Formats: sequence, C-alpha cells, structure tokens
Amino acid sequence: MRGNKRMTTLSIMKFGGTSVGSADALRAAALLVRAEHAKGTQVAVVVSAMSGVTNLLLDGADIASRGENGWQDLATTLQARHADTVAALLTTAAEQSLVNERIATHIGEFRALCHAVEVLGEASPRALDAISSLGERICMHLMAAHLRESGCAAEAVRAMDIIRTDATFQAARPDFEVTRDLCRTRLLPLLRNRSVPVITGFIGATASGAITTLGRGGSDYSAAIIGSVLDADEVVIWTDVDGVMSTDPRIAPNARTLPTVTFREISELAFYGAKVLHPLAVRPMIEHGGTLWIRNTFNPAGPATRIVADSSAPSASEPLKAVTAIKDQSLVTIEGRGMLGVQGIAARAFGAVARTGTSVTLITQASSEQSICFTVPSPNSSRVVAALNTEFTGELVRKEIDRIWDRPSVVIVSVVGSGMSTVPGIPGRVFTALGNQQINILAIAQGSSECSISLIVSTEQSDDSVRAIHALIVA
Ligand code: ASP
Ligand code: MG
Repeated sequence: MRGNKRMTTLSIMKFGGTSVGSADALRAAALLVRAEHAKGTQVAVVVSAMSGVTNLLLDGADIASRGENGWQDLATTLQARHADTVAALLTTAAEQSLVNERIATHIGEFRALCHAVEVLGEASPRALDAISSLGERICMHLMAAHLRESGCAAEAVRAMDIIRTDATFQAARPDFEVTRDLCRTRLLPLLRNRSVPVITGFIGATASGAITTLGRGGSDYSAAIIGSVLDADEVVIWTDVDGVMSTDPRIAPNARTLPTVTFREISELAFYGAKVLHPLAVRPMIEHGGTLWIRNTFNPAGPATRIVADSSAPSASEPLKAVTAIKDQSLVTIEGRGMLGVQGIAARAFGAVARTGTSVTLITQASSEQSICFTVPSPNSSRVVAALNTEFTGELVRKEIDRIWDRPSVVIVSVVGSGMSTVPGIPGRVFTALGNQQINILAIAQGSSECSISLIVSTEQSDDSVRAIHALIVA
C-alpha cells in the first residue's frame, strides 16, 4: 500500500511503439510529458522501441542463425530509421551528435551480435534478449534528448541498472525487493530534482548483469513494476487507441471506449487477446493500489479507460462489457469411453502438452468424462497431438482412449464482464444471440470467477460471433 510521505503526485507515463514511432509521435508524447511535469507532477517516462523495431531486430537474429545474408541490410535500415528521426526531431548539434553516437554504438552491437549468431548457427534466448533490447536502448535517448531540448530536464536511465530479474531469458521475472532498492536509489533523487527519468521498457538484467527481456509487449509490465516499487500515484499506458474498447472497432464499428474496467476484467481481456495491456502489468498495480489508465497519445483529450479495483460494485445494468476473439487456435480432443472414472488422465494429458512448450488457452471436459477438449495455438497443434499419442500409447492400444485429434482453424470468442455473476441468464442471452445467427458453438468454458464466458467457433464464424455478442453490449 502507498505511504503518505510524498506530497507531490508521481506519474509513470509509458509510451508504446507507435507513440514513439516517428519524430511527430515523439513530439506529441513529449508534449504530454511536459504538460504533466508543468503541473508540478513528478514524472517518470517508460518507452518502448519505435514501432516495428523489435520485430526487425528479431528478424535479424533469425536470418543470422540460418546463416543467411540480410541482417546487414537490416542493420542499415535500423540505422537510417533512427538517424532520420534524429534529423527530424532534434535541433541542437550537441544533442544530435550525442544521440547519433548512441545509435552508432547500438547498431554496432547489433552487427556484432548477429555476426556471433551467424558463426554459432544458433540464437540462444540470451542472445535474443541482447539483440531485441536494442530498440528500447536507442529510443530512450531520442526521448530524453528531445525533452531536454524543449526545456524539460531529462535523463536516460537503463532498465538494466534498475530492474533486477531472474535468468529466464525472453520471459524474465523481476525480483521486486532488489528492484525496489535499485529504482528508489536511482530514480527518487532525479524526481526530487524535477528531472524526468526516461527508462527503457521491456528490459531488465540478472544479478551478474546479463540483459534480459520481460517478453513481447513487456514494456507495460516495466511501467507497472516501476510504478509499484516507487509507490506511484498513477501509471498511464499511452497507446494508439482510445483506451479499452468494447470490441475491435474494425469488426464492429459501433465499438466504444469503456470508461472503467476492473482489474479482473482487464486480466481476462488481456489474456483473451485485447492487445491494449500486457497481462502481467495488472498484478503489481492491484497490489500497490495506484491508478492505472489507458489513454491515446494521438487523442489525449478523447475517451480513456481507468482500471479500477474489483470491489467497485459490478454494474448489474452492464453485465457484459467487452468481447474479444483469439484467432489461430486448434481444438484438441481426447475421446474415449474407457476414460470414465480413470484417475490422472487429465494430469498426464496436460503434462504431455506442457513438455511441448505449449500453453493451453482454454479447457473443457464433458461431465461424462468421455472427452477432454482444449485449445492450443495452431502452430503447436501437431506437436501436441503427437505428444499425446505417445503419452497414451497404452490406452489407445487397449481402446480406453478411442482417438486424439485436432480441429484446426478455430477461434476463442470471450465475453467479459464482472456483472454477469450477479445477473442470471447471461449465458442464455449469449447463446441465443449466436443461435439467431446460425453460429455453431464447438465448445464452451466459463471461468470460475464468473467474469467471462468463452466459446469456440470456427474461424469463418468469428467476426459474426463477435458482432452478435457485441450487439448485446452496445445496442
Ligand atoms: N518493444 C517490445 C516489443 O515490441 C516491448 C514493448 O513494446 O512492449 O515487444
Ligand atoms: Mg504493447
């Protein structure tokens, strides 16, 4: 919980890839920082890499690991993109040469790492983190230099120095205690001096100093970690959409911004494909009690979403809040009469799936125990089915399990709203809406939190399903 020692408000402003994706975007983002800072607020900024840069860096590593040429061209492209941004954004020779020097260093590092990967013929998770972290490490200099030029004291701060993680490269997890000390020691003096730390999102480092990343999209998590250890009053995730929407506006043009979403709802939404917030960013904020906002850098005065405590009464008038779809899934079924009452089948099944490195996105089991169904990302499904066939060889021979198969090309459509636990009949309304559109539901799961219902439908019926359910939310 937050202490009351600090009198000034502290805001963590996190800018995603598109919000720092060009000189114009960086200017717009910096304007928001300066406006907040001018109010007397203490501001710490967390930046992503410029949009597309992390993908290019990882492409380079991939090309190099296959021994192909092409990463050299990517290095040139990355160099040019950042140098062009310097030329368009920065006005003083001193700042320009400082940032250009950083760009040259980091692009040099990219070349050296790709060369090493090429020689080894393999990109280890550790090498991938060293490579994919470079976008943020360049971007923080662009933002810090531009803030200084526009009259706002700012300093680039490497997350390697303030976020301590374990050594799970590509999905590192923070050590909150060490991170708290490192962050407070490094950041609080800057904040007290009215300087704006500009911190790399996405990155941390192990105790021995190896660079780690928190996983794709992890800069939201960085902001939440920093917000929680500094007891920030708010963390604002600045993105390129008007907060959390009731659904994807490309599917349903009448989608609207949700003014408030509870922590539990946003966790479900983040898990089920709403790309606005990294799922791990939620927990640190719940625990320390600050406010979490999602706002649009390009429409700062427009609608925004505030993430609120679960205790805020679920609104019975609004039992359904949002509907999302996760595409590119396969539905795996283990079927057999001989499974009835046999213990340990599910444990063995999910053990076998886990050993393929696949995470299961949804599970349902018929109460007759004659089938277990679950979804996995399509690219993993043949590996999963093979692993299950191996695990259950004996059962298949003895005909206790009849077959294990997958149905490719399905979608998980999830409808989320914590009010559904207090309003009876919600599942019925959802099924009726789908039935009216002749949509065939392949499987159903309801979370025990009663905050979401998920349905599996075929890919062809995905958009129609989302629209039919959305019509129950926004009339
Ligand atoms: N740049 C990283 C990514 O593209 C982290 C982030 O943007 O959150 O995944
Ligand atoms: Mg993101």
